[in-house]
This record gives sequence, C-alpha cells and structure tokens, in this order.
Amino acid sequence: MSDGAVVRLDGSAAHYLLNVLRVKPGSPVKLCDNQTGEWLAEVADVAKRDVSLRVTALLRPREPVPDIWLLAAPVKKARLDMVVEKACELGVALYRPVITRRTIVERTNMDRLRAQMVEAAEQCARTALPEIVDAVKLADMLKDWPTNRTLYFADEEGGVPLAEVAKPGPAALLVGPEGGFDADERAAIKALPQAVAVSLGPRILRAETAAIAGLSIWMAVAGDWVAQPSR
Ligand code: SAH
Repeated sequence: MSDGAVVRLDGSAAHYLLNVLRVKPGSPVKLCDNQTGEWLAEVADVAKRDVSLRVTALLRPREPVPDIWLLAAPVKKARLDMVVEKACELGVALYRPVITRRTIVERTNMDRLRAQMVEAAEQCARTALPEIVDAVKLADMLKDWPTNRTLYFADEEGGVPLAEVAKPGPAALLVGPEGGFDADERAAIKALPQAVAVSLGPRILRAETAAIAGLSIWMAVAGDWVAQPSR
C-alpha cells in the first residue's frame, strides 16, 4: 500500500464495511496489508458489494516478529484453531502442520487457519501475520532442515528445561500429536544436529497446551519479551 493509492475491497471485507460498520463516502477506515503496515484510509465510493478506499497516511509500519516457527502436528479442529490463534497472538513468524505416525487429523483447512489468524490479528491490533505453510511429513521436514535454525523438540519423555536452553536466533518449536512421537521418530529427530530435546515440565500437557507454553517460554527467554540488546 502507499499514500494516495485506491484499494477496492469485495467479499467479506466489503460486507463487513457496508453492512456492519455501515460506512459512507468519507468514512475513515484503518487498513492493514501484512506487508507495509497499518494505514489510514477514507471511503471513496460504495457499491452494492464493493467499497473503494483512498489511502491517506501510514499509521504504523509492519511490526517485526521474532524468528520462531511453530511446527505442530495438527489436532482436532477446535483445538487447532486455538493453537493458530494463540501462536499468532504470541508472535510466531510461521506455522506449519507436521504429519507424524500418530497424527490423526490428516487434512487441514489452511484457509480456515488463515482466517483464524486474521481475526486474532485484528482483535489485537497486529500488523504482521504468521506465514502458513502446507503440511509436511516429519521425515521430509528433517531431511531439509536449515543448518542455522535450532529445532526445539518438545519431548514428553524429558529433555533439558526449555527455559534453560532457549537462545535468540532462528528457532522452531516441534510439538507432537495427542499420541506423542514414537521411538523411531524420537530417534530421527534427536539425530539432527540442530535439534535440542526440551522439557516443558514434569507434567504431560495436551498438544495445544504444549505449543502455547513452549512458545511463551521461548518468547520470555529468547524472543522479544525481554529487553533487546542494544546493537
Ligand atoms: N499421549 C502422549 C502425550 C502426548 S502430549 C503420552 O502419553 O506420552 C502431545 C505433545 O505435547 C508431545 O508429543 C510433546 O511434543 C508435547 N508435550 C506434552 N507435554 C510435554 C512436556 N511435559 N514436555 C515436553 N513436551 C511435552
């Protein structure tokens, strides 16, 4: 987006502006494009199903988010919706479903997950959305793992407390499905030099709780919940 640009909205965004907010030509509207930031705009023209807006000023540039990915086996619909909503609020850079042997939910509706994240971002005045990437099988993910990214593997069978090993820099949190990882998967993950098996405490958590707790710990210790070192 840029100053003076005219943006035409249709579909659900236009429906919301026309029928819920009942905007008229001249009404002020805030717009976010997930690339340049948040902009002030003014309704230029309304039609039955679409709205044109003239962008007038940049209010805030897109916020930076810490470089952590959430790689979680998809769980049942309502629980997965919660995971992606909370991951967006907590500030992850990317979410990708990972298919493991004991993953029960095989098909994930990426559009629904995206809508969930957009709603969370709107509620929380966020200018950045996590990237959502198509599901990957665990073995394929491990094969192509980037050399510089630490893989914090939430291991319900025990590991180093995450708060003790979390460090700044490119990171990812891997969380298993309801049934956990099997022995072969655990061995394959641990064989990756960038993987660190981490514990989230002595109690077994449900997968969605593990994702939210793990992200919170990483954010608090190594992400942007701490004072940033001066450059
Ligand atoms: N039913 C399994 C538990 C799976 S919990 C069992 O009885 O072993 C789902 C996922 O959450 C796990 O695969 C792991 O990634 C994560 N998790 C749950 N509790 C954890 C803990 N205390 N420490 C680390 N990871 C945990």
